[in-house]
Amino acid sequence: MKQEKTIRKCVFFDRDGIVNQSPGPGWVEGWEDFHLLPEFVEAARTALERGYEVAIITNQRGVALGVLSLETVNDMHRRLTDILISRGVPLLGIYMCPHERDACTCRKPLPGLLLQAAKEHGLDLGASWMIGDKETDVEAGSGAGCRTILVRSSDEATHADYHVADMKTLCSMIADWL
Ligand SMILES: [Mg+2]
Ligand SMILES: [Zn+2]
Repeated sequence: MKQEKTIRKCVFFDRDGIVNQSPGPGWVEGWEDFHLLPEFVEAARTALERGYEVAIITNQRGVALGVLSLETVNDMHRRLTDILISRGVPLLGIYMCPHERDACTCRKPLPGLLLQAAKEHGLDLGASWMIGDKETDVEAGSGAGCRTILVRSSDEATHADYHVADMKTLCSMIADWL
């Protein structure tokens, strides 16, 4: 049987500050503090419509610190996955680093989680995007060979390919460019 080779490309979204409201300097410790951003749902839908897969890439060092349990995070991620399915946004996966700094190969700014997703799903990283609100997201994305978009209100220097000030602008930008 002749196998049709299709390019699978993905938009990787950082979690805190992109998928849900940023908890500030700490961690989202329970579902009641997880506030999904409608602009993320819109951006992810656009990505799917344009033929991209959608995945979430998140550091949750609070697990290593004992601030939140792995069970709690996994439960939040199950609920998030279900809600997104009900809103027409099936995820390829939520990839998480629960580790302490400098203790693994998956914590952003390292590209480990993106590489893992690519390996599991046969993704073309060069045709994929990483979107985040921190320079560490940009570094992880470019380290994996993806194009990058930084969503941040300040105009400090960045290595991102594109920089937008807020999630609303992100939505219109990817509607135009993706
Ligand atoms: Mg973030
Ligand atoms: Zn890790």
